[in-house]
Amino acid sequence: MKKNYDVAVFHGDGIGPEIMAPTLEILHQLSRSSPSYELVFTDAPAGAGHYAKTGESFPAGSLETARNADAILLSAMGLPDVRYPDGTEISPQIDLRKQLGLFAGVRPVKVSSGQMTPLALPTGKEIDFVLIRESTEGLFFTQGTGEVTEHEARETLLITREVSEKLFRFAFKLAQNRKRTGRGRGRVTCVDKANVFRAFAFFRSMFDAEAAHHPELQADHAYVDATALWMVQKPWEFDVLVTENMFGDILSDLGAGLMGGLGLAPSADIGLNHAVFQPCHGSAPDIAGRGIANPFAMILSAAMMLEWLGLTRDHPGLSNDGERLREAVEKVTANGQNLTRDLGGTAGTQDAASSVLEALRA
Ligand code: ATP
Repeated sequence: MKKNYDVAVFHGDGIGPEIMAPTLEILHQLSRSSPSYELVFTDAPAGAGHYAKTGESFPAGSLETARNADAILLSAMGLPDVRYPDGTEISPQIDLRKQLGLFAGVRPVKVSSGQMTPLALPTGKEIDFVLIRESTEGLFFTQGTGEVTEHEARETLLITREVSEKLFRFAFKLAQNRKRTGRGRGRVTCVDKANVFRAFAFFRSMFDAEAAHHPELQADHAYVDATALWMVQKPWEFDVLVTENMFGDILSDLGAGLMGGLGLAPSADIGLNHAVFQPCHGSAPDIAGRGIANPFAMILSAAMMLEWLGLTRDHPGLSNDGERLREAVEKVTANGQNLTRDLGGTAGTQDAASSVLEALRA
């Protein structure tokens, strides 16, 4: 008997629908051939295109669909020239983070040997770490409500015990899982600026309190500036990094850069009861409608969704398929054929996605 899992699908704007379509095709195939699970997809209309058509950017019904789903798959959203009257961009993904309490932004950075990277990796070294960016407070706390006068501007950084404790619990649990499955050495690094700001000393003290519960894991600290340097000089030494919202925002783009660009960077925003999986990149309006967008970040995000569902629902069939899907993308990128233009190839979206399906079948 197959177990059903409901997935809310946000098709997105710009290249969003172009990369979502082949991703859903892959998920359908996996689900059809699985003896143990069935994925049931429900569309959740939202975004800049929807706003332009209907005057509504995130209908209440779509939030309900997301809230009731087992997982949420979201493609790139927003368009630079479709904005609210106050000039801000339409981003239902940020509304989802707030509404569903998705405090942990998970950004895996993985470069296997043979895969493209701007670094010259020493022989035998691979990059495989996860950056966790707190996603609901930090320096984004006053986003959109900062005070600006003629003479000064003011934004507030907020670090709360409630969110930080959840964040660090999540980080250590992730490191445990990575160690158990042979992907990480069991190291968690708190990235902060505790030498300068009291708020970060507070952040660090809560990290240390959580670390004390995990003698089986290695816990250490690094300043954010040094972390940026080490991500370039010795990224293979990291396992799990956990940090504040703005620091994480910046470091996650550096991480994407290590992987050769945004086209290969997946992400997840995870809370206690809900999780959204989406590519790190935006809706790329400059290439939309031409069938040339790279679908890999979207497909890798779908793989993360399967792995997360497998772990949280204690369903090894889902975890295995998530891992297989990630490895299929890695095989295609290492092989170097059927890559899209952003990765130096000439393939279109559909051909790149088809080669992932072939690698899955092989
Ligand atoms: P946002 O602020 O919404 O994240 P952004 O300004 O960072 O968006 P993107 O939409 O991510 O911009 O695009 C940045 C550049 O990367 C563009 O030139 C775009 O064409 C390219 N790009 C982004 N995603 C992809 C993709 N999946 N395939 C190919 N090129 C991409």
